[in-house]
Amino acid sequence: MAQPVNPHVAVLAFPFSTHAAPLLTIINRLASSSPNTLFSFFSTAQSNNSIFSTSQSTPPNIKAYNVDDGEPEGYVFVGKPQEDIELFMRVAPQNFRKGIEMAVEESGRKLSCLVTDAFFWFAKEMALENGVPWLPFYTSAACSLSSHVYTDLLRETYGVGGMAGREDETLNFIPGMSNVRICDLPEGIVFGNLESFFSNLLHKMGQVLPEATAVFINSFEELDPDITTDLKSKCNQYLNVGPFILATQPPSVPDSHGCLAWLDKQKPATVAYISFGSIAIPPPNELVALAEALEASQVPFIWSLRDKLKVHLPNGFLEKVNGIIVPWAPQTDVLAHGAVGVFITHGGWNSLVESIAGGVPMIFRPFFGDHRVNGRMVEVVWEIGVIVESGVLTKDGIISGLDLVLAQEKGKKMRENLRGIKQVAQTSVGAKGSSTENFKKLLDLVCG
Ligand code: UDP
Repeated sequence: MAQPVNPHVAVLAFPFSTHAAPLLTIINRLASSSPNTLFSFFSTAQSNNSIFSTSQSTPPNIKAYNVDDGEPEGYVFVGKPQEDIELFMRVAPQNFRKGIEMAVEESGRKLSCLVTDAFFWFAKEMALENGVPWLPFYTSAACSLSSHVYTDLLRETYGVGGMAGREDETLNFIPGMSNVRICDLPEGIVFGNLESFFSNLLHKMGQVLPEATAVFINSFEELDPDITTDLKSKCNQYLNVGPFILATQPPSVPDSHGCLAWLDKQKPATVAYISFGSIAIPPPNELVALAEALEASQVPFIWSLRDKLKVHLPNGFLEKVNGIIVPWAPQTDVLAHGAVGVFITHGGWNSLVESIAGGVPMIFRPFFGDHRVNGRMVEVVWEIGVIVESGVLTKDGIISGLDLVLAQEKGKKMRENLRGIKQVAQTSVGAKGSSTENFKKLLDLVCG
């Protein structure tokens, strides 16, 4: 195919949870490698304001455009789960179409490629309309991608009437997933509400991704060799181009609350870092259980906790412990600090990759979506962490998890496993590494 002289790539970001930031990270890298390519980056104003302010200097060939977030004037949220996502998806893809038209007119450059969040299954049609390739970015791990790609087979195999009595059956008919149980799957595949707006979105995504020009993810092939081989056979191209955090300098988050200086005063591998990402919020009784466990164990900690949630903590809590609570932490730097010995996490993929890069074992408290399956891989396949006893935060469960990771032989083994995995990850992003080779392919497909 003739290569465009002035490539113009439209990038469509999913503006919720931590999706747009890693997409911008890889677009930064592509843009720096191909200065003649123009990248028009579309997201909502709120998302763009947040990611472009924390991102490293953006190359001049990336231009951000704000699109309609779908919230009608004066709209009052009723508190339905994913209400903001539904509103947004109701105006997509029209909002993106409008944005692209404007970018094409402003730049005078015809569209040459569409890079989108993988959630935007409709982008396959948009790419066809424009006669350009479509490259979706799946922001989580290979294991959850596989469960979405195999949704129809899973439903045929297990039915859609729930999983009562079959929770522990393993998915041994899907390559690389033989340690994953039915109960570890994201909800909306064979249990939970299969007809919810979000389940439908993910179902459609799993069906159309294999037809994309290439699907790419923030991981490395060697982490999931069997899933990689399988998805390569199912997709036109399946490119692991991560971990981004080791391939390029991650965007810096300001250390406004002195986390790093506080960590400098702690002993090596003793501190618990606690964060449940940008969306998940443990219920008040679990916040109390966590606080009680920290007080009883006297494990030093940094807890990233929104100010409005502090009311749930026991009175005088901070006076009885060696720890700090901050509304937002420079997480990648915290996890890379030698004083951190364990990460209590919800199990989002970005957090998991950052923990691998920092060599920090994890205690998982999974909430929704991919958290459970990520946790299962961490505990059983990679052996670099555990899911908290009973799956929710209890005082005893946290105390025994902290003891296991910080003081027992098993914790030591997890750190050893992490060192091995990190080494492989580093090789993958080094010269001639698998992720480096895949990045070159991605660059070629996106920029021509
Ligand atoms: N994060 C951060 N500071 C915090 C909490 C989270 O910088 O105090 C960042 C973290 O480094 C990660 C992202 O927020 O990159 C969370 O992404 P993840 O995929 O783990 O969870 P999500 O927000 O999508 O639920």
